[in-house]
Amino acid sequence: MWAIGIHGGAGASLESAVAAECRVLEDALSWAQRELERDARAIDVVEGAIRILEDSGRFVAGKGSAPNSAGVWELDASICDGRSRRAGAVAALRGVYPPISIARAVMERTKNILLVGDGAYDFARECGFEPIADPSRFFTRRGKPKASAEGTNHGTVGAVVLDSTGGIVAGTSTGGISGKRPGRVGDSPIIGAGTWADEGVGVSCTGEGEFFLRTAAAHSVSVHCRLGGVGIGPAIATVLAEIGQLGGRGGLIAVDRAGNVDYAFNADAMRIAVATSSGHREARVARAADMRS
Ligand code: ASP
Repeated sequence: MWAIGIHGGAGASLESAVAAECRVLEDALSWAQRELERDARAIDVVEGAIRILEDSGRFVAGKGSAPNSAGVWELDASICDGRSRRAGAVAALRGVYPPISIARAVMERTKNILLVGDGAYDFARECGFEPIADPSRFFTRRGKPKASAEGTNHGTVGAVVLDSTGGIVAGTSTGGISGKRPGRVGDSPIIGAGTWADEGVGVSCTGEGEFFLRTAAAHSVSVHCRLGGVGIGPAIATVLAEIGQLGGRGGLIAVDRAGNVDYAFNADAMRIAVATSSGHREARVARAADMRS
């Protein structure tokens, strides 16, 4: 048994971008499905699926990240292995790529969980990750965004996987909220807020990170499942309702050890892709209107 859930952020999609976004989601899903069918490990599938989304330049993560208000690209990513309870993350990463693989290296090659800024850069270079020679050519979203764009641009990517050995891994990668203040870090690289995995569930979040931090969103899903005795669907709904009550917008996707994948969002849309060994398969921009019907 295996299952995967992928997201490409919650928030409005430009109509003209939907087809290309769906193609990338479909590519990442097909690749991940092939890997899981041949018993690949969850950690490799999460990293690989997120790499496809980061490299596509179609989402506000990896190459598609938007610059902050000073015109600088600062990227965040995290990965969390449920069985070992090990995790790695980078925040405000500049000048080196790819964030999800560097986050994995933090998990596997250090005793630390989170490296930020220059320290994250130096570590990545020590590990042999390539520097970005010219950020203004490398990233697909350029230029200093208008202040009014803040809070409108969501395109974080994430993946949650149950592999055939029962291992659960979750990962998230983002360029953050476009036009963000230099040094601002949201929920995505924070274990327990934007990303969580344990023996029972894996969760990746997207949306206005400050609200996901205030609710410890990803870990709260696990708490509702473990202590509240509910499934991932009701657990996600409860956490999203709490975020909504605080005034936050976004979405969550989760996988459990029984091979269920569920997601929910309170934004206009969420870009998602799901496949399970029991035959559930979808890759689409889910609209709020579809969810209500
Ligand atoms: N959660 C991300 C952040 O606050 C943004 C997003 O998901 O679009 O940095």
